Amino acid sequence: MTGSVAVVGASLAGLSAVRALRARGFHGTVTLIGDEPDLPYERPALSKEFLHTGEPTGLLEDHSETARLDAQWLLGRRAIGLTPGMGRPIEQEGEAAPHAEPHLIHLDDGRTVSADTLILATGARPRRLPGVPGAHYLRNLDDARRLRETLYETKQLVIIGAGFIGAEVASSARGLGVDVTLVDSAPIPSAAALGETIAAACADLHARNGVRLLTGTRIESVRPDAVHLIGGARLAADTIVIGIGATPNIEWAGDRNPLLHNADGFETDTQGRTAIPGIYAIGDCARVHDPISGRDTRSEHWNAAITQAQTVAAAITGTPPPARTAPYFWSHQYGKLLQLAGDPTAATDLRIIDGALDGESFTARYEHNGTPVAVCALDNPRLFTRQRKQLDRDLTSAH
Ligand SMILES: Cc1cc2nc3c(=O)[nH]c(=O)nc-3n(C[C@H](O)[C@H](O)[C@H](O)COP(=O)(O)OP(=O)(O)OC[C@H]3O[C@@H](n4cnc5c(N)ncnc54)[C@H](O)[C@@H]3O)c2cc1C
Repeated sequence: MTGSVAVVGASLAGLSAVRALRARGFHGTVTLIGDEPDLPYERPALSKEFLHTGEPTGLLEDHSETARLDAQWLLGRRAIGLTPGMGRPIEQEGEAAPHAEPHLIHLDDGRTVSADTLILATGARPRRLPGVPGAHYLRNLDDARRLRETLYETKQLVIIGAGFIGAEVASSARGLGVDVTLVDSAPIPSAAALGETIAAACADLHARNGVRLLTGTRIESVRPDAVHLIGGARLAADTIVIGIGATPNIEWAGDRNPLLHNADGFETDTQGRTAIPGIYAIGDCARVHDPISGRDTRSEHWNAAITQAQTVAAAITGTPPPARTAPYFWSHQYGKLLQLAGDPTAATDLRIIDGALDGESFTARYEHNGTPVAVCALDNPRLFTRQRKQLDRDLTSAH
């Protein structure tokens, strides 16, 4: 298979797409464009072990992987525009190439990259809270380096937002001996992702580990040395971290391509195809339509970036798609591993199948009228993996 593919966004999704294309026999040219100067690294570590060790974990298997992938890397270059061409299918061996205009990616150094096929993998950036100068956000290596240096001198940390990033930073900062207050506007943080019962059990972990969690709170103002809550409370802080969600990086593609995106991601079908032939989107920047549920979902998890990359590589090369698997994510907090697979929002009941919600570990199965639809475990990877595999088998046999 030959032709040319350009991937915009050189992180987990983009790199996984290149790996999958090569594994599926694509021999054409591949260009990987990324605005970060570093070779791809593990983002999940930034809120966890990196804050202790200061060492980024590389995503590439080893140095020779860059050679094996045989891609042109354009790092430290930002894509600032996209001119769609007609696209053309990847050529199978021996086929004559149909003539078509390539797609064009415009870079901030004035260069233009042209390719038959584009994969958009530009991820997301932290949602900002306006008017809070000096606050920390956590998305990339620079953010993590800054936060790490500051945490070593911090006595009182206030984290606004108790989602997974906020919770993990709270846990890591506690590990460094920092006094931590975590505030969230929701009555039970992460209830949308975990369901109320499990989310409440996870919220208890903060108190059990010496972190003050204030829920259902509204912020009146943020000063460099304190967060003021509506109702009068003042939370003294020498460092403030904001973790209130992420916004997809889509604006760079320009509003000349209205079919490519709405405000919350590049819209794709289940195969990662946008409305423009030969342009695909994957990872945190993609909003995928599921014809079965009718829902459009942007999944901001590590595993989704990889499976979407494999799906798109299959679509581009005309090879069989990967088996459907249940959505999966994990989090590490206070030395414990939290894992979730499946779709808790589809559940009518929750069954504790091991341990206790207020104990050191538990495994819970979410069911819809008796049928398992999701599983969540705290520190029980073995039972979790068995349940997760069953969910995957159920999905495969249902389709
Ligand atoms: C601190 C942190 C901890 C996390 N922990 C977990 C976890 O424990 N478990 C889990 O399941 N998931 C976790 N995640 C989520 C997971 O890391 C993401 O889902 C995954 O990184 C998405 O990969 P991606 O390649 O789509 O996007 P990204 O990793 O965001 O990569 C996108 C890349 O594109 C670049 N880019 C953006 N715009 C342009 C442009 N115009 N031109 C060129 N390049 C551009 C970006 O700089 C970036 O390098 C975590 C995320 C963060 C930030």
